[in-house]
Parts: sequence; C-alpha cells; structure tokens
Amino acid sequence: MKKFFAVLFSFLMILSLNGCGKVQLGLTSHTDVAMGTVINLKIYSTDNKNYAEEVMGLLRELEEKELSVRAGSSEAAYVNANAGSDAVPVSAQFGELIGRCLEVGDRSDGALDVTLGNVVKLWNIDSLAGGEAVDFQLPDESALESALASCGNDKIGLSEERDQISLRADTALDLGAVGKGIALDRVRAYLQEQDGITGAVISVGGSVLTYGSKPDGTDWKVGITDPFDTGKVLGYLTLAGTHCISTSGDYERYVEKDGVRYHHIIDPHTGYPARSGLSSVTILSEDGFLSDALSTACFVLGSERGLTLATEYGCEALFVTTEGELLMTEGFRQLFGSK
Ligand code: AMP
Ligand code: MG
Repeated sequence: MKKFFAVLFSFLMILSLNGCGKVQLGLTSHTDVAMGTVINLKIYSTDNKNYAEEVMGLLRELEEKELSVRAGSSEAAYVNANAGSDAVPVSAQFGELIGRCLEVGDRSDGALDVTLGNVVKLWNIDSLAGGEAVDFQLPDESALESALASCGNDKIGLSEERDQISLRADTALDLGAVGKGIALDRVRAYLQEQDGITGAVISVGGSVLTYGSKPDGTDWKVGITDPFDTGKVLGYLTLAGTHCISTSGDYERYVEKDGVRYHHIIDPHTGYPARSGLSSVTILSEDGFLSDALSTACFVLGSERGLTLATEYGCEALFVTTEGELLMTEGFRQLFGSK
C-alpha cells in the first residue's frame, strides 16, 4: 500500500511539473494595415481572448482622432485648419505630445520639426514612394523656400497648461516622425491594463515594441533591417522585457530620379532630403515617442551630433553610414549580434 502511494505521489509530481505548473498561453497573431503602414501583433495571454480587434481599434482611433493631417476629424487637422486664428483647445494627451515634440525640436537644434507640413506636402514622397516615379517632379525652388519659411518651433504656440495650440498662418503640422512611436506607447499602456497578457511583440511600420516575457522564457529577438538590402537584417537585438525600437532610413520611402534618391526624411535647414552621410538610424529606448522622435532627428543630424543627442536622452543607438559602416553606443553593442 505504501509503495502504491509512493508511486502515485511521484506520478502526480510529474503531472504537476509537466502540466499544471506550465500554463498554456493563448496567442493573438495578426497582420493588418493602419496609420499608413503595416501592423504586426503577437500577443501571449493566459486567457483565450483575441486582442487584435481592440489593439487595431486603438491604433485607428489614435490616427483618426489625433495624428492624421488628412482625416478632418483629427486634432492635428483641426489645429492646421485653424492656423492663423486664435489658439484652439486640444486634449491633454495631444498637448503633451506637441510639448514633447517641441522639446526634442529645441534640443536637436531644429532637426526634428513637426511644423514641416508644407515642405513634406511639396515633396509628396510619402504618396509616390514604392511606385514608379513617373510623376515625380522636384519641388519648385521658390515654392520650397516659402514653404520652409512657414516652418519652425517658433510658429507654434502651446499654452503653459498644454491645453491650447495656435499656429502661425500658413504653417502646418506633420506628425509622421513621431506617430509610430506614440502608437507603441499607447499599445503598451493598453497591454499593461490587461491582466491576462504576459508578453507581446508589436510592430508598427519601422517601430517595434517588446512587452513582458516570451512563453518559453527566452529573450525577444528584433532584427534590424539592412538599409542596402531590405530583405536582409544586419543583426538582431536580444531584449529581455519591455523596449521600443525605431528605425529611420533612406530606404523606407523614396523616389529616384536621374540616379538620385529623394527620401522622406527632410533636413529642416535646407528643405531637402537629409544628406548626413547616413542610410539608417535605430534608436532603442523604453519610451516609444523618444525612439521615434530621435531616430528622425538623429538621421538629420548625422552620426556625430546624433550620437551626442541620443546619449543625452539616455537612449542606445545604431548608425549605418552610406558607406555601410556600423557605429553604435556601447549599450547597443552589448545587445546586438548576428543571432
Ligand atoms: P520617420 O520615418 O519616423 O523618420 O519619419 C519620417 C516622416 O516624418 C516623413 O514621412 C515626414 O512625414 C516627417 N518628417 C520628415 N522629416 C522630418 C523632420 N526633419 N522632422 C519632423 N518630421 C519630419
Ligand atoms: Mg521617427
């Protein structure tokens, strides 16, 4: 009898180690399009809920209610429509976002400039990129000059309480440089509110959020695109826990004319696509907004000044020069490898 109980006990022990101790996780896996880019979701949870609809709803709402300069219903479009008038009221989160953009704009010496709307429109690269560039014309010099005169942090007024914004007449916001990063911050806040979610990896265009842990306990791997062969990766970041990774590159959206590549990252000092000797910049941070804002700003600044700015903000960075050289912070190097 004793022997029987001993065998039963060890059998139960094995069962509990193999079965009950290991919680079977549900997986939401979803690919979609929103915010003008491809969205990929992988969410692990202890329940069998499909989280795709709620996350996609959140991203679409962010675009339609806050960021899009095309959707008439967004706060950005509302501020643009009222350029030259009295200040208009904005939500706390939108005011906070603009405040943070202005701060990075100042600290980057104007390299990040969310008032570039008119210049971005003149280049029209976002809508031409990827297709045959038959319609592409270089912007008229004088049109570019006057569009550039409408840009700069000094053309925005943000009230001290960050609840009202005014724009100088003819100035237009464009939040394309920070939208994907803000999206990651909002998704992370949503994931944190869900008791059942244990881990996730979310990609919004060139920006990736890793959250929590993987079911098998191993670290997250995030590939960094090779700017010279976008079907390949330069290497992988190995990350435990929650991080945001944003890349800005001259390969993401561009058109080519007469052998010259015109890409979508504009140098606010010239009005032309930035020629800073870089092909891509990747920023790693716990803050999605910062990773996205700084990847754009550092691309414009070039590797030397970009490195200083990223370090000042406590972020890790990788710069890929147009010569194919890889420059990175020590922290980035420690997390970066070929596997
Ligand atoms: P990203 O891919 O994050 O580097 O953002 C590029 C997008 O931001 C472009 O498609 C434009 O809409 C906008 N943009 C381009 N250059 C700048 C800049 N220097 N500062 C702020 N926004 C920019
Ligand atoms: Mg960016």
